[in-house]
Amino acid sequence: MAADRTNLPGTASSAGGGGKDIAVIGSSNMDLITYITRMPSEGETVEAPDFAMGFGGKGANQAVSASRLGSRVLMLTRVGNDLFAQSTIENYRRNGIDTDLVLPTQAASGVAPIFVDEESRNSILIVKGANALLTPEDVLRAEEDIASCRLIVLQLEIPLETVYEAVALGKRHSIPVLLNPAPAQPDLELEKVRDCQYIVPNESELSLLTGMPVDSLDDVRNAAAVLLEVGIANVIVTLGSRGALWMTRTEDRLIPGVAVEARDTTGAGDAFIGCFGHFLVSTGDTAASLEMANRYSADSVTKRGTQSSYASKEEFEQILR
Ligand code: ADP
Repeated sequence: MAADRTNLPGTASSAGGGGKDIAVIGSSNMDLITYITRMPSEGETVEAPDFAMGFGGKGANQAVSASRLGSRVLMLTRVGNDLFAQSTIENYRRNGIDTDLVLPTQAASGVAPIFVDEESRNSILIVKGANALLTPEDVLRAEEDIASCRLIVLQLEIPLETVYEAVALGKRHSIPVLLNPAPAQPDLELEKVRDCQYIVPNESELSLLTGMPVDSLDDVRNAAAVLLEVGIANVIVTLGSRGALWMTRTEDRLIPGVAVEARDTTGAGDAFIGCFGHFLVSTGDTAASLEMANRYSADSVTKRGTQSSYASKEEFEQILR
């Protein structure tokens, strides 16, 4: 297998017919952020100074960043039967994302109650809700639509069996699959994702996936080599402000990060993946797409918030000037 087999003809805007550029199969969450002075102890009620809501979920974030950059994105996800479901669907629409496969479910929407104290330390609870009910059958029912896309993007906030089914679908239709193994999942069976064309962990996810240390760049290389050994063609490790390391059987390239004054790094990894996916389907050039992803995600960390920190196509073009 060629190390950089992209199977990505044409550009994002030139694909004809009803096909989309990218199928994101993943989570939708509502972040419920309470700003606190301190946590209440058991039985106590404490007044908190402020509250905000934000759209999140790794799948949703990656879909929004790719769509803002101009990719045509199909989102396969499950939302609940509550107030959050409708605003989540509206948020997808506002961001130009196809919502035909945003499936209503008799369950609570996925939510993330987040508590942020005065020193910006946060404690986060994740309630998977409807995300836990996105099944392999949902993937199979959407096979025709997914098969008309040119890249499948996956994360681990949905059941692993669903992820495995999507990887198999990609293989059946020769569509490259990009797996972001986040949040780290000790139960992930590498053998079942070996047909992914791209795996994009951060350092701690890489360590958990391989059981190896990642204290130095050489450690990261050795751990990435384990994933190549399993059969995954491209391993891309995001390294925070240091950028990203791209490894294939023949390639070993550090793509340096972009120096910025970081304000809020939440969602940087999702910005990176959405942008990388967008440029990959547009150009088929992995190295150039990684450079873009570094620049895009570096810009996102200069702004507060998650999706609200993702630049539009026009804003990103300004940044690149
Ligand atoms: P995650 O958010 O998943 O933990 P990283 O921290 O590795 O992932 O960040 C993803 C990407 O975001 C990095 O590869 C880099 O391009 C960019 N990035 C993150 N933090 C910074 C930073 N402080 N300065 C510049 N770029 C950053």
